[in-house]
Amino acid sequence: MTDQPMVEERKIYYERILIIDDEEITRMMLRRVLEESGYWVLEATNGQQGLQTCLLENPDAVLMDVRMPVMNGFEACQAIRQEPAISRVPILMLTSLDDVVAVQLAFDAGATDFVTKPINWALLAQRVRYALRAREIERQMRENEEQLARAQRIARLGYWRYEIAVDWLNLSLELCHLLEIDTVRGMTGSEMREHVLEEDLPLLERFIAAFLQEYADESETEIRIRIGSGRVLTLFLSANLMYDKNNQVNVIFGVAQDVTERRATEARLSYFAHFDPLTGLPNRVLFRDRLIQVINAAQRDDRRFAIIHLNLDQFQKVNASLGNTNADLVLQRLVERLKGRLRERDSLSRFGGDHFEAILTDIRSEHEAAIVAQRLLSAFDVPLQCAEWEVRVSATLGIAVYPNDGTDIETLLLHAATAYTRALELGGARYQFYTADLHHQAVERLNREAALSRALERDEFILYFQPRFDLRERRVTGAEALIRWQHPEWGLQMPDHFIGILEDNGLIIEVGEWVLRQACRAFRDLPLAVSINLSPRQFQSPDLAERMLRIVQEEHFPAERLELELTERLFMHDEQQAALTLTALRESGIQVSIDDYGTGYCSLQYLKRLPVNLLKIDRSFIRCLTDDRADQAIVRSTIELCHTLNVEVVAEGVEDRATLDALQHLGCDAIQGYYLSRPVPLERLLEWLDSVKLGSHFALDAPNGPPLAEQA
Ligand code: C2E
Ligand code: CA
Ligand code: CA
Repeated sequence: MTDQPMVEERKIYYERILIIDDEEITRMMLRRVLEESGYWVLEATNGQQGLQTCLLENPDAVLMDVRMPVMNGFEACQAIRQEPAISRVPILMLTSLDDVVAVQLAFDAGATDFVTKPINWALLAQRVRYALRAREIERQMRENEEQLARAQRIARLGYWRYEIAVDWLNLSLELCHLLEIDTVRGMTGSEMREHVLEEDLPLLERFIAAFLQEYADESETEIRIRIGSGRVLTLFLSANLMYDKNNQVNVIFGVAQDVTERRATEARLSYFAHFDPLTGLPNRVLFRDRLIQVINAAQRDDRRFAIIHLNLDQFQKVNASLGNTNADLVLQRLVERLKGRLRERDSLSRFGGDHFEAILTDIRSEHEAAIVAQRLLSAFDVPLQCAEWEVRVSATLGIAVYPNDGTDIETLLLHAATAYTRALELGGARYQFYTADLHHQAVERLNREAALSRALERDEFILYFQPRFDLRERRVTGAEALIRWQHPEWGLQMPDHFIGILEDNGLIIEVGEWVLRQACRAFRDLPLAVSINLSPRQFQSPDLAERMLRIVQEEHFPAERLELELTERLFMHDEQQAALTLTALRESGIQVSIDDYGTGYCSLQYLKRLPVNLLKIDRSFIRCLTDDRADQAIVRSTIELCHTLNVEVVAEGVEDRATLDALQHLGCDAIQGYYLSRPVPLERLLEWLDSVKLGSHFALDAPNGPPLAEQA
């Protein structure tokens, strides 16, 4: 706004009337009347001159005599109508009262109205005013139409009319223009359908059916049409039914709007609403959507997942030193690396800046999340090459696990962020679980795993052996090999603490073969059988029998003195495969026993179907055998059944003399347990066997009791 006061400029405007007449007296009279009514008057004396003046002055109306020299009124009228600049001026022709022909000719020539001679002077000004007003209305209408047409063009909108009975479609000029159809003659419905994309035809049919079958008054749809130039337009159609005066439906009247651009923009917007344009990663909006789905799925299937809050450390320094463009490049490369380190089913989102969140779906343990976190961290080990710079970036991670650390988005995000903060406090460039003790467990397990993967090559495994005592022969007939892990710092580790890990990471196969080889070597020159334990993972490998036999042969060990201990769990998995493997093993002479009998599926069915020599009754039935009648009953019937099937029975975990006696009484074939000996290294076993006279009858009733009841 300026300080100047607004001054309204008022122009006194006279409407100008051109009089064309060869009679001076008439001109004079007309001038007087018109001037009195407030018009500005111009004059011309013949048609020719009139046309010229008209072009020059562009009057608001023309009063013109019919009969004139040089160019008569009809000709002049026609000429004016043909001049675009003046063609719309109202022309009132002055005709004789009774000259019907002249009136007709005047209208044909394009006259607006006529005034009869002798002129009614009182009415003349009214006639002129009326003509002027009509002209103004027409001008306004024309303007409106033009505006409407322009608006339609801008809105990329057009009209159409479909006459149902005759199957005829009329398109407005704008619509023809839009569709690049250069005909205005219209087309049949099926001609129109040819332009519609095949997959959108059902939409069009439904749109029309809404009127014709469901008698809807209105309907709308969106279809795609291939236009003249081959482009495809998305048209929004909206229509009304039109009733004729008999209330019959005849016509569907509608508009069509080209919404191609809008839809494309919407699609683009939707992309930007869900994805980060720099990295192409989902943004926080999409992250939330996904997290909701993941939570629902985890809830339904009772599964766990983890979210990782990942922040780059001091990325602003990269920004400051390399500039934003290069920093963006670094970010893109890092994201590529990170994506490569996630599992297929995981997802990474960018929350903005250098803050990312990952969802690790379907993890079995915290340990698994720790592995992925470690992998993500390792993405930062190698510096990035960006232009001539070598960029070192690190990241800090916070992990929250569903459901332990939260069951909703907010809590999980918060706890992952808390864990992240804690990791930062600890110095950054590391990961941290929300739950501290879980964190420790995970770390411990990772450490164990790392140490275990080196244990074999560092020769840290040892076999201990526990003798088995035959109750009928009353002598030691064999021993069970039990693995130990002698860690330089942590000391002697028991199998329960590492067999599971070896199974998880597959190392059990290699370690199992080592066990077999060692057992064979240790017992090759002893008159005793040796048994080794097999874990399910080992048993699942289809070439198990082949590999075991190869080792046995390489070590020149008599197969009949080797016994494999399997748990019932093994057979559940694939009984047929199990039967094949067992048969192959049995045919080569190797003995097969069922371990931990009673803890698993307690089904003696397997005994009947599978070639098994021996059954080991689990410690839990033996422990209270002397007091517990139920245990006695179970052990007795197991022994009886096994004997009818020609399967030997060994009792595990015999810790005292009374239990030994009870088992002997029940007809058990052999025992193992601390009462006799704990598992011990080979040398100790040999010493002991030597002292009790290897292979000969063993004096259990010796006054100083069993000779090797020491701690392992
Ligand atoms: P298992 O096959 O049931 O082995 C018997 C376990 O009972 C051994 O534990 C042994 O020390 C313990 N034991 C023996 N007599 C007594 C007793 O009188 N009282 C008590 N309370 N315990 C007794 P260990 O050596 O800790 O082995 C644990 C498990 O680890 C074994 O159970 C076996 O399933 C597995 N394992 C051991 N060595 C190997 C191996 O080389 N390969 C595989 N796959 N698994 C092994
Ligand atoms: Ca065993
Ligand atoms: Ca056992």
